[in-house]
Amino acid sequence: MKNFSNESLNTRFGINNNNFPVNIILMQPTTSHETFLDGSDYVDFESSSRSRNWPISVGEKTFFVDPIIFSRNSDYFRILMENKSFLEGAIGLLTIHDESPEDIYTLITAISPNCLGLYPDSINERNVCTVLRLCDKYLMPNLKRNCIDYLIEYHPVSQAVSEVFFLFYQLCFSLNSEYDHDVVLADVAVDTMFVCLVELCSPTNITEFTRLLFDLQKKGGSAKDIKNVKRVADAVFHGGALFRHRISFNEEVQGLGCHQCSMLPPIRQSRSKNRKPFVLSLCKSCNREVCVHCRRKLCQRLFEEWINELRS
Ligand SMILES: [Zn+2]
Ligand SMILES: [Zn+2]
Repeated sequence: MKNFSNESLNTRFGINNNNFPVNIILMQPTTSHETFLDGSDYVDFESSSRSRNWPISVGEKTFFVDPIIFSRNSDYFRILMENKSFLEGAIGLLTIHDESPEDIYTLITAISPNCLGLYPDSINERNVCTVLRLCDKYLMPNLKRNCIDYLIEYHPVSQAVSEVFFLFYQLCFSLNSEYDHDVVLADVAVDTMFVCLVELCSPTNITEFTRLLFDLQKKGGSAKDIKNVKRVADAVFHGGALFRHRISFNEEVQGLGCHQCSMLPPIRQSRSKNRKPFVLSLCKSCNREVCVHCRRKLCQRLFEEWINELRS
C-alpha cells in the first residue's frame, strides 16, 4: 500500500508544506513556517522565521519582518530594502530612531500575517491613529485607505464605551499635525469624532463613562495627559448643553423638511382641522433648519468649533 506520509504528499503536489501557511491537503493552518509566542497562535515578531528574516531595529527592540510584504505595502520600505546602494539595503538592517518600539510593532502587526501566520491584526480603535500617522510617514496608501474606511464605517453603538472614548480621545489629539495636508482625512476624522461624541453623551452610557474616567484617573499619567482627558471628558459630560443647536424661539420657519433627519411635512389632509403646523427651527450656528426632535440633538458646527479650539 502506498505510504501517505507528509513527505510523499509534499512531493506529489510540488509544494514544500513548511513554506506554505496552509496545508492544502487538510485545509488547515500549519505552524512550522512561523515562530509563535509561547502557547499562543500569535507570531513572535522578535524572533525570525523562514520568511521574516529582515530585522528592523527600534529603541531596545529588534523585530523581524518579511521584506516582500513590507516592499509591497510601502514604497519607503521597498526602496530601502531592495536598493543595495543604500546602507540599509546593503547591510540588510533597518534602524528607526524617531519612533517608539510600540508604534512600530503596531504597524508591523497591521500588515504582517499574525494569528496562526495567516491574517494581519485588524484595524481597531486602539491602533487606527498610530497606523494612519505611520502610513503617511512610510508611504502606505492601501493601508491608509483601510484605516479611512474603518473610520467612515465606524458604528460606536456596537462598541464598548471604553473603546469609543479611546478612539474619540486619540482623534482629538494624535492626528493633529496631519490635518493640514489631508483634507479628506480631516473631514472623515471630524465626522467619526462626532458620532463617537453622540454615543458617549447618550444617557445610557453616562454611568459606564463615569466609571471609566475614575479608572483613568486612578492610573494617572503626565500632567498634560490628565489635563487633556479632563477637557475631553468635560465635553462629554456637558455635551448636551455645549453642542445643542442654538435655536432662537422667535425664528421658527415653515421649511420643506428637516435638514438633519430629512423628516418631511405630513401630506396635507384637507378634512383635518387641527393639523399641527410643520415647524422647523433655524440653528444660528450651523444655519440648518431642524425639526422638533433634532432641535435637541448635537450641532456638528458647534462641535467643529470646539475641536478647533481644543487643538489650537
Ligand atoms: Zn446647529
Ligand atoms: Zn429632524
